[in-house]
Amino acid sequence: MVGKRKIVFFFGGGKAEGNAAMRELLGGKGAGLHEMTRIGAPVPPGFTITTEVCTYYYAHHEQYPKGLESDVIAGLGRIEKILGRRFGDAENPLLVSVRSGARESMPGMMDTVLNLGLNDQTVQGLIKRTQNPRFGYDSYRRFVQMYADVVLGLKAKEKIERDPFEEILERKKHASGVGFDTDLGAEDLEEVVFAFKALVKARLGKEFPSDPKEQLWGAIGAVLGSWNNDRAVAYRKLYDIPHTWGTAVTVQAMVFGNLGEKCATGVAFTRNPSTGEKSFYGEFLVNAQGEDVVAGIRTPRPVGELKTVMPRPYAELRKVCKILERRYKDMQDIEFTVEDNKLWMLQTRSGKRTGFAAVRVAVDMVKERIIDKNEALLRVEADHLNQLLRPIFDHKDKEQAAKEGRILAKGLPAGPGAATGRVVFHSEDAVARKESGDQVVLCRTETSPDDIRGMEAAQGILTARGGMTSHAALVARQMGKVCVAGCEALSIDYQARLMRVGETVLHEGDWISVDGSTGEVIQGEIRTLPSEVLQVLIGGDRYARKPRIYQQYAKLMRWADEARKLGVRTNTDQPDQARVAKAFGAEGIGLCRTEHMFFQGDRIQAVREMILSDDESGRRRALAKLLPMQKEDFKGILDIMGGLPVTIRTLDPPLHEFLPNRENEIVELAQVMGVPADRLRDKVKVLQEFNPMLGHRGCRLGISYPEITEMQARAIFEAACELRKEGKDPFPEVMIPLVGSRGELVAQRKIVEQVAHETLASYGVKVRYLIGTMIELPRACLLAGEIAEEAEFFSFGTNDLTQTCLGLSRDDAGKFLPTYVLDGLLAEDPFVSIDREGVGALMRIAITKGRKVRRNLEIGICGEHGGDPKSVAFCHEIGLDYVSCSPFRVPIAKLAAAQASLRKKP
Ligand code: PEP
Ligand code: MG
Repeated sequence: MVGKRKIVFFFGGGKAEGNAAMRELLGGKGAGLHEMTRIGAPVPPGFTITTEVCTYYYAHHEQYPKGLESDVIAGLGRIEKILGRRFGDAENPLLVSVRSGARESMPGMMDTVLNLGLNDQTVQGLIKRTQNPRFGYDSYRRFVQMYADVVLGLKAKEKIERDPFEEILERKKHASGVGFDTDLGAEDLEEVVFAFKALVKARLGKEFPSDPKEQLWGAIGAVLGSWNNDRAVAYRKLYDIPHTWGTAVTVQAMVFGNLGEKCATGVAFTRNPSTGEKSFYGEFLVNAQGEDVVAGIRTPRPVGELKTVMPRPYAELRKVCKILERRYKDMQDIEFTVEDNKLWMLQTRSGKRTGFAAVRVAVDMVKERIIDKNEALLRVEADHLNQLLRPIFDHKDKEQAAKEGRILAKGLPAGPGAATGRVVFHSEDAVARKESGDQVVLCRTETSPDDIRGMEAAQGILTARGGMTSHAALVARQMGKVCVAGCEALSIDYQARLMRVGETVLHEGDWISVDGSTGEVIQGEIRTLPSEVLQVLIGGDRYARKPRIYQQYAKLMRWADEARKLGVRTNTDQPDQARVAKAFGAEGIGLCRTEHMFFQGDRIQAVREMILSDDESGRRRALAKLLPMQKEDFKGILDIMGGLPVTIRTLDPPLHEFLPNRENEIVELAQVMGVPADRLRDKVKVLQEFNPMLGHRGCRLGISYPEITEMQARAIFEAACELRKEGKDPFPEVMIPLVGSRGELVAQRKIVEQVAHETLASYGVKVRYLIGTMIELPRACLLAGEIAEEAEFFSFGTNDLTQTCLGLSRDDAGKFLPTYVLDGLLAEDPFVSIDREGVGALMRIAITKGRKVRRNLEIGICGEHGGDPKSVAFCHEIGLDYVSCSPFRVPIAKLAAAQASLRKKP
């Protein structure tokens, strides 16, 4: 017991103490085993040690809670009773597996030990029972190998060293003149066991443990320990899984898929996890055990073939899978074993899937009446939509590659999409090259969980071995990476840093392209094109029949639009970007950064002239050059957005971004301005700031030089009036940045209003418009009531609000912030996801004060957080009207907004 709470839950013989709802306590794997036992599926008996034991273990210097030992012994006793075998018995031994399993599945990241309980005596009992000495020694050598690795920590020393156990095995195969493990006889394997144990003794200076109880506690400790191994910690960081959750440990009777030709082991998905298609999908190996399928050492057969090889277990498997999918109302990922033609279920969980599959399964399940629309929306991770918008290969480029014979081989299409990059063979190299700006494809014989960082860094992953459910494939799909697995034509020489594909040799650093939708491996670089969804969204009229993926995406987006309360706008300053955002369904522009418009072409010259002029008349001359350019841009954007609101921010330039710093630029500008270069040089020096992001920017510039605000207002309203004259309905919202006091807003507002009146009067038209402000300083939040008296809308600039609330420089935080996140001093990078306690509290104050003064005050957010699903949920919670994000994140923000509003409902 931990306190008064039960810590070991038993399942077996048709009864289970746990159920599907107990994931938090029993882990996903444990809860699945208990539930399957309850519904009458064939599950070997066992027990689950709860996640609370794991948290206790870490909180108490790796000690177990009182009572665990007796509960474990009692659990073993119950298994023994059901099966009529005894743990450690030389005549009829019970063997168990010890398996990890957290609340969220972390595929391959933690450890498992199989065949536990074997020693020189019990192996004889196993042989007697099965009448199969070969099987007995094969199980024994697997156990020693796995235990030595997982519990005793005996692994390959360096990245190029081979697994020392595999080397012994290879030598034995060579000496016996056989090609496969399965061809080794009992005596060979007995010798292998002997050699394995000798290796352990030589490397560790102690005997391999032969007492089954000692083995069991060693394995339990190692599984608990694996919660904090490097790869598990890295994985949790990547997927935001709290370190405090802990893993459960399930001890379960072994069943054997390696007992002969009537035995098999496999994994299956109730739907295709890559595309989402409704077809039974998976792989199996005859005469193999446990991890062989996922480890990718042998390439397995498609599960459909099991129907002819073992029809009875296959039929039962299909039946159980159907029941499980209906029960869990989701695509299931299951593990099974067939022992002597009898099916055993070893795992069921919601299957990891690509973004493509997530959308398709969710939409299909609504059609099949398994779930409703709202549930479908909650099933797709908002960020997963990214994958649907990812590039595909340029058809022409690829055809050309085919003509030139550059399509080298075909593997399994394990993670859809198109990737092109430089060949690397090791994860460390993938990370290093990525950091230096290269794009890479990680090429491995097979990947192991240790490769997770390299996989994350790579554009794509290519493996020579392993099936669609190998580790590489699983993890790649989940990360949304392009992956081609099991490309057997590939032979990698890690030491020589090259790989051969037929006649072709590719060295590290050469270009390669992989098509994760077809499995093709192509030599050289291939141009990529926007995704099909994007192509339809932008040039949809060309399609007589829209691709399925687009149709499903569109349906999901429609449902999201119905469910969400938050509006979704976009941040853009170019007409072509505005067009893309509109195609994604942006409901307006939440931020048009006018200074970005000044970076193009020769405009920068005029901007510099304006900044560096000594007096108002000089500035006005420069501004007059800028006015028509700004007006054209505004007109373009206002036109594209139709009657939707377009929030245009007055100039907010960190000045240093605009100052000329090269000598030739200064000389050239001096000529244009008709001033001596020396004077200009001095002026540039005067304008240099120590802290530009907190310097002469935002409305401070408009306060110093009102003529700038005046010119911009004129450009906005002339653009709007001209459109109005053309019968259009432009809707500008003029936004004043970096306001910290009511007075600043009053001054800037006065200029904008005056220009608006004059311009509208001179054109003789009416235009809808609003004048409001950004809220991006703590002072603005605290004085939001006063400010709201002058503002018709607020828009949170959470980039600056984060910078100023936390006192963290936006430009410099990158040097130390990662350490803060790594050390847990900050839960997350506050520039990525809103710091709810600090920045969030200021936002709440501003909203309350602002709406108290102006009940219908429109409030949005236009900092980068507007496209981060967690921040979107927060914005929904605190009652914002809209979020605004970059064009490609609009669909993600829409889905996140829908999810937030659905989750809020009781
Ligand atoms: C902000 O500060 O959040 C913002 C949107 O403005 P900028 O990033 O341009 O400072
Ligand atoms: Mg800002």
